[in-house]
Amino acid sequence: MQVRSGIAVSPGVVKGPALVLGSESFRIPRKFVTQDAVDAELHRFHSAREVVCRDIKANEQLVSAQLGAEYAAIFSAHLQMAQDPRLIREVESLIRDQSHSPEYAVSRVLRKFAEQMQALGDQYLSERALDIYDLEKRLLGKLLGESREELSNLTEPVIILAHDLTPGETATLNTKYVLGFATEVGGHTSHTAILAGALEIPAIVGLGRCFGGVSGGETVILDGDHGQVIIDPDAATLARFEASQARNLRVIERLEQLESLPAETQDGQRVRIYGNIEFPEEVQQCIRRGADGIGLYRTEFLFLSGNREPSEADHYEAYCRVLEACGDLPVVIRTLDIGADKVPGIMQKQFADSQNPMLGLRSIRLSLQNTPLFKTQLRAILRASVHGNVKVMFPLVSSLLEFRQARMILMDVMEDLEDEGIPFQRNLPIGMMVEVPSAVLLAEEFAREVDFFSIGTNDLIQYTLACDRSDPSVANLYRSGDPSILRLIQMVMKAADKYKKQVTVCGQMSSDPRFIPLLLGLGLRHLSVTPHAIPRLKEVVRNVSISEAERISRHACELDLARDVEHFLLGELSRLCPDLVV
Ligand code: PEP
Ligand code: MG
Repeated sequence: MQVRSGIAVSPGVVKGPALVLGSESFRIPRKFVTQDAVDAELHRFHSAREVVCRDIKANEQLVSAQLGAEYAAIFSAHLQMAQDPRLIREVESLIRDQSHSPEYAVSRVLRKFAEQMQALGDQYLSERALDIYDLEKRLLGKLLGESREELSNLTEPVIILAHDLTPGETATLNTKYVLGFATEVGGHTSHTAILAGALEIPAIVGLGRCFGGVSGGETVILDGDHGQVIIDPDAATLARFEASQARNLRVIERLEQLESLPAETQDGQRVRIYGNIEFPEEVQQCIRRGADGIGLYRTEFLFLSGNREPSEADHYEAYCRVLEACGDLPVVIRTLDIGADKVPGIMQKQFADSQNPMLGLRSIRLSLQNTPLFKTQLRAILRASVHGNVKVMFPLVSSLLEFRQARMILMDVMEDLEDEGIPFQRNLPIGMMVEVPSAVLLAEEFAREVDFFSIGTNDLIQYTLACDRSDPSVANLYRSGDPSILRLIQMVMKAADKYKKQVTVCGQMSSDPRFIPLLLGLGLRHLSVTPHAIPRLKEVVRNVSISEAERISRHACELDLARDVEHFLLGELSRLCPDLVV
């Protein structure tokens, strides 16, 4: 039995036979061609490129129909690369001037491009370099007449183990037969991870080289909740899996029945659970699971998945789709949180020199320095505000001046719209993310000026504990249960309470059932979470009373180690909801 750990990017535990996809290290057959074959070889390169472009367009259409235009935009970027005149010129030149075979020329040119991108040392750019390797793979596949036939010819359920899965391959996976997948490479922000979540296929990425000895057909357990792949499980592990599957099924059935029931504590306190979304398509999953609205709409994904700056119409159309699905339910539209690990392709140059992008020009700082970009988005938000219950929220606010400047620009845009006779909601609530320690320390000052707070624990933990949220080498130090984090949440609650302002927790901490009694005990009544977590969290809320939650949070706040806090909370969860602890 082999057990491997990676990054869990899409939850669920499944068992099935392994389908191992080749490492894709195509063997380049010839390095040189004879001079008189050059024209024929150039023609072969162009034919392969045309077929690849056609395939990409077909993928784009398929994904657009299945998942929506935002996801399909990934393929526009691929297409743009395949049609890049510089790339074509360099390959042609190697074939024509140096008599290299098209296979060798393609591999050399594309790898050079990808390596240059990776050398910039930026996580986002490194992941985009994978798109270039994807294009290389596609071109070589056509030139060499090979393809990953296995994926399109599936006739029985499998678990895919691959060095890498391209976004194209992931988006077109047949969910009837693909139980889950695990890849050796990849990170949290890769398109492959985003698509796995949207398709709700259990998935793990970033396992490191480990599938070399697996030939296919072996039994695999893929645990997308804990990021574990177990190859050839022993009898005891299999028995544990079967037992937990049976229990999970019972839990899922019971949780489905909670979808229409309110998130209400044992003593009748109503708790609002909202969904976090990146794309308008996800809103339906939230509504189906009984969300009370959208507590965090990460609008930067509109930028990230496209290859051009979204227009006011693009923003407006996306917001209207979300609002239409939500009816009267609130929708918190967060303004662009671009920068750090979220850099759109079209802005890569602007960020290339940043030594420390997590502390650099990101989020509201970027919007304030780029007023036309900010105003375009604000116009769209305001115009959409007449179609639903919209709230606007600024990310990564670290000083009062930033908040005031952002609000002032919003007021300017309101005046412009008024002059143009365009209707909008003048009183729409204006809130801010609390995700920088300075915002907590000044929470009282902020509370006088904002309409609501939303605590972004993902960044708050990173900036408080000086611990990169996406670096696996410090993952053990990145703890939601750290006493400093509990204290910061207490401080925000106290300040908000004084000025009667609403507080939501929208970081991943609130999607973890262990932390729900603690958060309720600290006074939280609004949680914004990953859509698939909603039923489980509702279950916790419905099994605890506020007085019990307060006892739990009081005890947790007395502990001085993150490890002890988390251990204590796990114990409390297994007492309150034993089924949720696996
Ligand atoms: C957070 O930081 O907790 C948050 C919700 O924002 P994001 O994950 O988009 O940075
Ligand atoms: Mg954040």
